Amino acid sequence: MSIIQIHNLKKSFGLNDVLLGIDLEINKSEVVVIMGPSGSGKSTLLRCLNFLEEPTEGIIQIGEYRVIAGGKIDRKRKKEIRELRKRTGFVFQSFNLFPHKTAIENVMEGPIAIHGASKDEARKLAELQLIKVGLGDRCDHYPVQLSGGQQQRVAIARSLALNPMVMLFDEPTSALDPELVREVLQVIKDLAQEGMTMVIVTHEMNFAKDVADRVVFMDNGLIVEEGTSQQVFQSPKEERTRKFLSKVE
Ligand code: ADP
Ligand code: MG
Repeated sequence: MSIIQIHNLKKSFGLNDVLLGIDLEINKSEVVVIMGPSGSGKSTLLRCLNFLEEPTEGIIQIGEYRVIAGGKIDRKRKKEIRELRKRTGFVFQSFNLFPHKTAIENVMEGPIAIHGASKDEARKLAELQLIKVGLGDRCDHYPVQLSGGQQQRVAIARSLALNPMVMLFDEPTSALDPELVREVLQVIKDLAQEGMTMVIVTHEMNFAKDVADRVVFMDNGLIVEEGTSQQVFQSPKEERTRKFLSKVE
C-alpha cells in the first residue's frame, strides 16, 4: 500500500521549468533515496511534496490527505495543505534551530504550537526524542554549544516530535564536517530500522547502498531511472546515471 502518491508533478519558476512531470509512489516503511546532479530539481521535489513550494501542476497525496496543485486557494485547500504539512517532517541541509532556545525547547516548540500540547507533555515528549537521537544529556544546551552533527540530530528530533507519517531529508549531511556525517546517518538508519517512511536526497553512496529500498535518479526535472541500489549503482541502464555515478565515486 502506498502512503505517498505523486502524480504528474510539475513546477516552474517563471520560465524555468524545473519539474517536468514526476510520478512516484512510495510505500509505508519504504526508504527512497533521490540522487542526481545539482540543479536537477531534487530539493524542489521535496519542497513541493509538503507544499513549501506550490507545485504548478499535479496531485500529491500523503496518507489520506490529497492536494491538487493549482487549485483555488480557499479555506478547504488551506486546511488540506496544513494537514499534509503536519504529517511530513522536513530536515534541511542547514539545521535551522532557534538559536535562543535550548535543544529541548527547540523540540518542544512544534508539539505546543502545532498539536496544542501542554508544556509538561511537550517536555516529556521532547526528552524522549532527544534520547532517541542520542542527545539525552544535551537537553539544556543551546545550539552554539553543540556540534553540527548534534544540531542536525536535534533538528531530526524536532521533526520526529510531531509524529510524522513520512520524513523528508534534503542533503542532511552535506553541511557537516566529514567526521560528523556518520552520527547523523546512523540516526537515519535507526529510523529506517524502526520502519519510518523516508525520502532522502543525499550524495552518500555507501549510505544509500545500506539504507535505500529504492534509489531514484533525477536529471533535468525528470526521473531518469529507478531501482534497488544494486541495480542503479552496479548496472545503471541510462548513460546519464552512469556519468553521474562515475563522478561521485
Ligand atoms: P537540486 O536540489 O537538484 O540541486 P533544485 O531543486 O534546488 O535542484 O533547483 C532546480 C532548479 O530550480 C534550479 O535551476 C534552481 O535555480 C531553480 N529554483 C529552485 N528554487 C527556486 C526558487 N525559489 N526560485 C527560482 N528558481 C528556483
Ligand atoms: Mg538541492
